Amino acid sequence: MNFKSYQLSTELQKALDVLKYNEPTDVQREVIPRVLESQDLIVKSQTGSGKTAAFGIPICEKIVWEENEPQAIVLTPTRELAAQVREDITNIGRFKRIKALAVYGKEPFATQKDELKQKTHVVVGTPGRMMDHIDRGTIDLDQVKYLVIDEADEMLKMGFLDEVEEIIEQLPLNRVTMVYSATIPPQIEKLCHKYMQDPINIEI
Ligand code: AMP
Repeated sequence: MNFKSYQLSTELQKALDVLKYNEPTDVQREVIPRVLESQDLIVKSQTGSGKTAAFGIPICEKIVWEENEPQAIVLTPTRELAAQVREDITNIGRFKRIKALAVYGKEPFATQKDELKQKTHVVVGTPGRMMDHIDRGTIDLDQVKYLVIDEADEMLKMGFLDEVEEIIEQLPLNRVTMVYSATIPPQIEKLCHKYMQDPINIEI
């Protein structure tokens, strides 16, 4: 099986060819078709499984380039992961000219604010800085159709879950929500139950 069976746009397929992603990984095989059908997902998977592209590919496929406001939000527990996810999404969306921005602490707020005024399709960030932008009105969430909570168990360990919940509360209800986590502790399960619509559980 290869990526051709998903009938992705030529821009996306070309990017995957350049990245030498020839065959979908197990998690990608489970996730991609379901996200393309707007299904909420709870994905139990490890780093290294190809999970970033599992959500990055269908999100980039569905993004409408012409829209100026962010269409996808990815929350990560660390700056390093935010930067990595931003880079992966930029590579996947390269030929569609998708702009992904990483927002996290210790980087100047003003620079991120200026970037957010330009066309930005995907915003990847840590919950604290994302919340700052929301509080100060520097990010418009009206067009968000995809939310990814990456490494949810790490978010919980680092005490970010309340902020994650505050952010979710600000998002449009008509969206696809995905939670990625190596383990699903009760607090995460509760969050999923509260904010997701008939999620499918995927375990790799
Ligand atoms: P991740 O689990 O998202 O950190 O991805 C682990 C590594 O696998 C990254 O270096 C990706 O670039 C790579 N990768 C993701 N999907 C594929 C694929 N379908 N084929 C080959 N490499 C991939």
